[in-house]
Amino acid sequence: MAADPQNDTIVSNQPPGVSHAFRFCPRCGHAHPNPGQSPFQCSQCGWSYYFGPVSAVGALIINDQRQMLLVKRARDPGKGMLGLPGGFVDAGETAEQALQREVREETGLEIEGAQLLLTYPNQYRHCDFVVPVLDFFFQCRPVDASCLHLADGELSAFQWTRPTTEQLGRMAFPSNRMAIEKWLGMG
Ligand SMILES: [Zn+2]
Repeated sequence: MAADPQNDTIVSNQPPGVSHAFRFCPRCGHAHPNPGQSPFQCSQCGWSYYFGPVSAVGALIINDQRQMLLVKRARDPGKGMLGLPGGFVDAGETAEQALQREVREETGLEIEGAQLLLTYPNQYRHCDFVVPVLDFFFQCRPVDASCLHLADGELSAFQWTRPTTEQLGRMAFPSNRMAIEKWLGMG
């Protein structure tokens, strides 16, 4: 299991939580005597910062044949592994808007009928630190599945499939697997 990125406990192969990057107060520049505390609190100026999770969305896009769109990731984290279309929610966006935007950017598809299936904590390795994430998974339908074309660079392949155990073993993120297993269990 991965370490709690908000906590001091770090397993050997896991980068530290992002709280460890805050070695100085971003407001006044005072050195923190013990980086990694959450929330960050500056003893000099009193500024504090909470390392809450960022929001992300994942799309379980289901076609008329009850097949799901799985994509192969072209970049780290999880290069060469399978995933669901999706990404981070921008400030000011709803999760549903982020879902539409990310699916459009990554696959060219327009989606409809989005329904929240489940949420699950995730972690994202970024610049040698681990950022806590809360994933929102939505089930949805493509408006026209024939419009699918992958964005250059981010994804290298796609497949419409009823996900198998072997495919679930190649998912880049455990949270994606959890969401797919829930959908499969719903018949
Ligand atoms: Zn300060």
